[in-house]
Amino acid sequence: MDHIAQAVQILRAGGLVGMPTETVYGLAADACSPLAVRRIFAAKGRPADHPVIVHLDSAASAQAWGRWSAAAQALAEAFWPGPLTMVLPRAGHVLDEVTGGLPTVGLRVPAHPVAHQLLAAFGGGLAAPSANPFGTVSPTSAAHVRAAFGADLKVLDGGPCAVGLESSIVDLSGPTPALLRPGGVPRRALEAIVGPLGQAATPAPGTLKAHYAPRTSLLLTDDVVGEVARLEAVGRSVAVLPAGPGHAQRLYAELRRLDELGVDLLVAERSDDLDMREAINDRLRRAATGSGVTE
Ligand code: AMP
Ligand code: MG
Repeated sequence: MDHIAQAVQILRAGGLVGMPTETVYGLAADACSPLAVRRIFAAKGRPADHPVIVHLDSAASAQAWGRWSAAAQALAEAFWPGPLTMVLPRAGHVLDEVTGGLPTVGLRVPAHPVAHQLLAAFGGGLAAPSANPFGTVSPTSAAHVRAAFGADLKVLDGGPCAVGLESSIVDLSGPTPALLRPGGVPRRALEAIVGPLGQAATPAPGTLKAHYAPRTSLLLTDDVVGEVARLEAVGRSVAVLPAGPGHAQRLYAELRRLDELGVDLLVAERSDDLDMREAINDRLRRAATGSGVTE
């Protein structure tokens, strides 16, 4: 049996599968099975009121999961398949386990060919948050997923993630579209389709201040050279997170690598990347807030 057929068999039996997407690797389960979705939360140690995004193979499939609108149609045409999640009023059959009890549901059609094959072969929605223990750095390779969940989890290896950061989340359930989380699609590209995006009235559950965090403390600065000199002068060992081209795509892998070095402090420069800086700086801020937590 090939890997996709094996994965489908596991999913149909209510099990979990590591799924590559262009953003980060997901921990996928049948979105129509309450038991399977609860397994995701148990495996990740994720609070039950954090909604999970439902992944689908096409916009046509997505229309059965949420109340479609002209804005949803326009965004789907522009950015699906791709790193955009839309939050819509949920359809009647959508489980509370998926939405965290909210009246809305997050939907996405991923662009990764392996994710697409899996979704098409499964023939339904897959609930999938990032495949990492809650609060830790998201996985951007199959090895990251295996390191977290061990050999018992079936992981489809789709290579390193091309985007490397989570999807942009646009809430279309209110009177005006709002950006709940910056991500793989830049704000100005979204605004070119639906006009100015409002701020979320309340932060999306699960977008915590401290998130995506390495164990080593992380310092975010506009002056890496100055900070490193200052820290080294007082005898602290530091490692610098590389910026520049490919910053977003490599960010999580670099955070993981540097976290293993055993230095006193990680230092990261705020991004000025035209397209990805909002998402990169959002993740760096959260990583800096939650870093250095020893369990
Ligand atoms: P991820 O951690 O990438 O799986 O993304 C899950 C995040 O998507 C959640 O923590 C929320 O921030 C957001 N999300 C998913 N569904 C909804 C929803 N119905 N309403 C608001 N935010 C949502
Ligand atoms: Mg996550």
